[in-house]
Amino acid sequence: MAKARKYVYFFGDGKADGRADMKELLGGKGANLAEMTNLGIPVPAGFTITTEVCTHYYKHGRRYPGELKGQVDKALARVEKVMGARFGDAENPLLLSCRSGARASMPGMMETVLNIGLTTRTIPGMVRLAKNPRFVWDAYRRLITMYTDVVMEKAAGIEPAEGKGIRHQLEHEMAKMKERVGAKNDTDLTAEHLKELTATYKKKVQEVLGKAFPDDPQEQLWGAIGAVFQSWNGKRAVSYRRIEAIPDAWGTATNVQAMVFGNMGNNSATGVAFTRNPATGENKFFGEWLPNAQGEDVVAGIRTPNPLNEDTRSEHSAGLQSLQNAMPKVYTQLVRIRNRLEKHYRDMQDIEFTIQDGRLWMLQTRNGKRNGPAAVRMAVEMLRERLISKEMAVTRVTPAQLDELLHPILDPQAERKAAVLAKGLPAGPGGAAGRIVFTAADAVAWAERGEVVILCREETNPEDVEGMRAAKAILTARGGMTSHAALVARGWGKCCIVGAGALKVSAGAKTISADATVLREGDWISLNGTKGAVYAGKLPTVDPDPENPRLVEFLKACDRVRQLGVRANADTPEDARVARTFGAEGIGLVRTEHMFYGEGAEVPLFKLRKMILSSTEAERRAALGELFPHVKADLKGTLKAMAPYPVTIRLLDPPLHEFVPRDEGVQRELARSLGIDVAEIRKRGEDLHETNPMMGHRGVRLGITYPEVTEMQVRAILEATAELHKEGVKAHPEIMIPVTCSVAEIRDQAGIIARVKTEVMSKLGLKKLDFLVGTMIEIPRAALTAGEMAEAAEFFSFGTNDLTQMGFGFSRDDIGAFMPDYLKKEILPADPFQTIDQAGIGELIRIGIERGRATRPKLKVGICGEHGGDPASIHFCHKVGMDYVSCSPFRVPIARLAAAQVAVKDLAAKKTAAKPKKKKKK
Ligand code: PEP
Ligand code: MG
Repeated sequence: MAKARKYVYFFGDGKADGRADMKELLGGKGANLAEMTNLGIPVPAGFTITTEVCTHYYKHGRRYPGELKGQVDKALARVEKVMGARFGDAENPLLLSCRSGARASMPGMMETVLNIGLTTRTIPGMVRLAKNPRFVWDAYRRLITMYTDVVMEKAAGIEPAEGKGIRHQLEHEMAKMKERVGAKNDTDLTAEHLKELTATYKKKVQEVLGKAFPDDPQEQLWGAIGAVFQSWNGKRAVSYRRIEAIPDAWGTATNVQAMVFGNMGNNSATGVAFTRNPATGENKFFGEWLPNAQGEDVVAGIRTPNPLNEDTRSEHSAGLQSLQNAMPKVYTQLVRIRNRLEKHYRDMQDIEFTIQDGRLWMLQTRNGKRNGPAAVRMAVEMLRERLISKEMAVTRVTPAQLDELLHPILDPQAERKAAVLAKGLPAGPGGAAGRIVFTAADAVAWAERGEVVILCREETNPEDVEGMRAAKAILTARGGMTSHAALVARGWGKCCIVGAGALKVSAGAKTISADATVLREGDWISLNGTKGAVYAGKLPTVDPDPENPRLVEFLKACDRVRQLGVRANADTPEDARVARTFGAEGIGLVRTEHMFYGEGAEVPLFKLRKMILSSTEAERRAALGELFPHVKADLKGTLKAMAPYPVTIRLLDPPLHEFVPRDEGVQRELARSLGIDVAEIRKRGEDLHETNPMMGHRGVRLGITYPEVTEMQVRAILEATAELHKEGVKAHPEIMIPVTCSVAEIRDQAGIIARVKTEVMSKLGLKKLDFLVGTMIEIPRAALTAGEMAEAAEFFSFGTNDLTQMGFGFSRDDIGAFMPDYLKKEILPADPFQTIDQAGIGELIRIGIERGRATRPKLKVGICGEHGGDPASIHFCHKVGMDYVSCSPFRVPIARLAAAQVAVKDLAAKKTAAKPKKKKKK
């Protein structure tokens, strides 16, 4: 006969059927209760009903498997034996708790029933045992409240009107009783009061729910078990699963466990503790406890809890007795358990304990939640203590936690209390508060006066760049994650939210409105750029420490584990220096056009405009000649700042009309300089107008029609490099051709590059001048013809902003109008401009790499689109075999972490894959 499936796992008296690695079957709580029991830690005996029962229950019209009842009875008999009491017994009754416990922690989302087994038959026995009638009647009152609310109302699918729920009505009865007898607190009610109250409760239950509160222990137990399984599909739990992406199919386990009481008198207590401080990471046992109380009293915030020990006493808990002083023996035992658990789990634990009449019981342990600084500190210190390996250490900090250490953030406590005004895309992480301005010029002027401002725009264009620089943060109503505002802000490590569609930004009226709220110029506004949340008013911010030695140490551990290189997208020598401090190993993209934006760029911008508005080659060459020294000096600075690491310099990319001056004064000056009249300048500007500039005369196409433009840039790069070599600086340029779709384009430009190389070498008397020539891959055709592209390109850099734009046919600057609907209706799982669409765009990348390397096995491959700083995309880049990722300087630490995490994952997967093979060989 086949063995019956095991649905119930016992734990108690040092022996457990389960283990910590059985979370799928036993849920987190059940698995850890079993593990603690096996470790010899005192845990009240109990049993776990598996998650399989939950899935069976839902698959079979809410019925249990036939074997369950028998298995529960058996396990219960073992619990009774261990605890020396019997469930439902009049003389020596055992009371039980029934708690949910899913694979992933879902705090407060499912139900719990305590004190199960109190009935008219068992109460007298319990009173005799506890020698404390008040405690028993209070426990009975709590049972009726919890049971009727959880089992008889919620699990029965009753949805009472606001304020009409049974719990509320019972609490109202208690309030009435308190008023009648003049009791201020619950604790002022006597045993007699509580006894009377439970009778009132039972009448009320019959009246409201039309059913009696069950007086049979088995009925109470099975009611509670059913309610826990039922709560897996309760509203709260379902919403939480959606947000946290927890699959519905997992189900919850149910833990039935002997009750122990922290509220049995002054020799009893209950507490919650963390094996290390979860807010700072400090290696100090940290917790709170309450004498004569039940667990929920500590977390509910009704009473101020006492400090666990003297070491972690705060101003807040001055004058309150620590557990260390109050019950030194129990405290010492607790410290031993703390050390045991940390060593065993090799992570900070969040534990719950109860002391019943001087005896310590552990009710829960789990990996504790922590903030960013604490996560980094614990990872580094546990690595130093040799508690964990470097591979483990790098998995202990999430990218979002690391981000908390890199930017000022809104004070989390203040943020929790504030109401969200609007939501947008989280384009630049961190938090900022500032006063609203509506134009770039105002941002500059106000900032010069010492004001902290947030530039609020419908959208931004390159001309806003000065204002963006001056502003503390940027907020736009339109645009996507790769829109100009987002890209520039991220590059500067600035807080930025784009595409906050619910906001009406009226630059004319100088107002921002959302629903009924209207904000005006000068009003304070606060942004959380990590979440994309906008708040009215000034929320306080918390500053990071950029030189944090723990952060440096943690990232070094990441570097020892990762395989992917990490470079930065940087456009100036200053950016390059910043990138290096964050650990960049090169520049993956210099957007040369950025040297014409911003402070100090007036002269080169004027000369660039002159070049653009030239109408003959001779005119253009003259303008290029004037531009040359600026370009060369700028690139030389960047190459030097990054030496000896490589610097990928992209030839001019944007459509020229972006630089056509709209300001009349500038137009007049240009006309004078070119010796033509203003009308002609305007006409030439208009001629450059394009209907669809993103797919117009840009990228390599400029170099094809104006070879002299490529020539000037290449000469600048190579002369700068040669001069640096002479100065002893090991500069490594990589010349990158943008927006290519055919190998013939690369060949054409490579011809120019080869010619200029010869000229520069002979001019400077050089025998050798090494550099690479490669291409961006940002057009689907380029990816598909990668085999040919690699004949002429020595490296590929995937420009996934444009590749996504052209692969999807979504304009990267205009997704704000429809992307929210695509995400809401789940037409797309994520914004493909934020994280690589692996099924489509990812396929183009995979094909591109495969075909490219078939032609040129050593082809160097990287990514320089915004996805290069997105952890999920970085994982993908590792898997498809890229050599490096490149992202904005401030994302470099996140990229180092993500690259390390994927390497660890990969290693673990390889180990698992290798295991069965070994077996076969035997
Ligand atoms: C890209 O297209 O991914 C890219 C890096 O280039 P840009 O964003 O400058 O178009
Ligand atoms: Mg591009």
